[in-house]
Amino acid sequence: MRLPLPPDDDVLLIGRRPLRAVLARGVADAVRWETTVCGFTEHPDGVDVHLAGARDVRVDVLVGADGVRSRITPALTGRPAARPAGVTAIAARVPLGVPGAPPVPGDLRHGLAFGYGPRGVGVFLALHRPGPRPAPEAEPPYLVWSVAAAPERFSGDPATTNPAGLVDEARRLLRGWGRGSRRG
Ligand SMILES: Cc1cc2nc3c(=O)[nH]c(=O)nc-3n(C[C@H](O)[C@H](O)[C@H](O)COP(=O)(O)OP(=O)(O)OC[C@H]3O[C@@H](n4cnc5c(N)ncnc54)[C@H](O)[C@@H]3O)c2cc1C
Repeated sequence: MRLPLPPDDDVLLIGRRPLRAVLARGVADAVRWETTVCGFTEHPDGVDVHLAGARDVRVDVLVGADGVRSRITPALTGRPAARPAGVTAIAARVPLGVPGAPPVPGDLRHGLAFGYGPRGVGVFLALHRPGPRPAPEAEPPYLVWSVAAAPERFSGDPATTNPAGLVDEARRLLRGWGRGSRRG
């Protein structure tokens, strides 16, 4: 299945790294990088945020935006920020425009690709191509690929498998798939 991006539609795709760089424009001095929040204590006039290896910080409002393994959300709501969806995925980027880069299926220039095969194994492909006047935060071109399946289809725990092992795992999961793509 191809998810076309009609040229007239107001659709914006942006990678996580450039998005963060754009969000930090003009406020980078106020961001404390490489700092881990390990907890907080609420007071009538603010919140003390506890930092690993640094002094507490008193703030007016604490917003928990620390992802699926959030420490803030369970402390506030009593339950995790996310729960397993029953699907595990391996994802990677392949740089393009460099020696040895793979050929890219032409369809990907018009939108994302998403496919499911036997045993519930799925593939996602997205092409990143900066426009003619890229923003300073834009990254060089790359292809994102992802292979997803039920956790029991994996031969090991992807979270503790090295990159080469993850590529082997993805190849194993896709064994028998054709090299060409068929439109859906
Ligand atoms: C490979 C991949 C591809 C994806 N593709 C898409 C896509 O095409 N479209 C889409 O809509 N979504 C996509 N997603 C999902 C999307 O990236 C997430 O939904 C989104 O990033 C969640 O945003 P968030 O701000 O909640 O968490 P995150 O983006 O995970 O940000 C959490 C931040 O909090 C920081 N943090 C965590 N714990 C602490 C702590 N204790 N102290 C201080 N900082 C902490 C982390 O370092 C991180 O910077 C993709 C995700 C992955 C992994």
